[in-house]
Amino acid sequence: MRLAGKTILITAAGQGIGRASAIACAAEGARVFATDLNADLLAGLKGIETWPFDVTDAEAVARTASRVGRLDGLFNCAGFVPHGTILDVTDADWEFSFNLNVTSMMRLTRACLPAMIERAAETGTASILNMASVASSVKGFPNRAAYGATKAAVIGLTKGIAADFVRQGIRANALCPATVDTPSLRGRIAAAADPVQAEKDFIARQPMGRLAAVEDIVPMVVYLLSDESRFVSGQAVLVDGGVTI
Ligand code: NAD
Repeated sequence: MRLAGKTILITAAGQGIGRASAIACAAEGARVFATDLNADLLAGLKGIETWPFDVTDAEAVARTASRVGRLDGLFNCAGFVPHGTILDVTDADWEFSFNLNVTSMMRLTRACLPAMIERAAETGTASILNMASVASSVKGFPNRAAYGATKAAVIGLTKGIAADFVRQGIRANALCPATVDTPSLRGRIAAAADPVQAEKDFIARQPMGRLAAVEDIVPMVVYLLSDESRFVSGQAVLVDGGVTI
């Protein structure tokens, strides 16, 4: 099994990419701690340790880091998609988005890193995976001004962590999917003025002619958390269905 003997913490594991990642990592032999803001969403994750966790709550971040102890893998998956151009963004939306998508990731990584460094001293490597997006410094998309800014920041943060701790066995990579069919995407489609057209528009911008399924993304999550990727660090890894061809 590809993750045998590893302990991995995942945020936003209640649904979407985070949930599918928790299931896949457990199936590959990892001890998985699956957390999410919404405790109800975690209820169906059998054989996986779960607890409710708001990543924007600084005290909860400290409690979670001490609860998990030594970690081989941290998947910071939590994120939110603010919609609109820069003319639509309020200061409050901007702050909320950076707080959830970037600051919480920095805090949780900072809290978990000392124990990950200890673990890497024993095993040779520990892996941090930060959820970015192809909508970031990689590529601009309409109505993603604040979102793209947060995900570009994730890539910069990830590269900084990778550079600072490479000698201590820590690897850090950012994952950049294109549009994935998840509950929050369905919510964004449903909230559009014309949901049928909105879904067509999401599909039209993906050259492969379809939305990604979570199963298209999760193999890269497992790879980046496993020792198979032991020579990979500081990368923005695209799983984008050809969006950037
Ligand atoms: P989703 O948006 O459907 O679900 C997000 C989960 O995050 C929910 O279970 C929610 O309860 C949880 N959450 C929300 N706020 C939280 C908080 N403060 N603390 C802890 N958990 C919280 O899932 P998704 O679409 O798979 O998105 C997951 C990540 O992937 C996000 O960072 C998103 O930006 C990124 N992403 C998604 C897509 C896509 O098209 N779906 C594409 C690229 C990147």
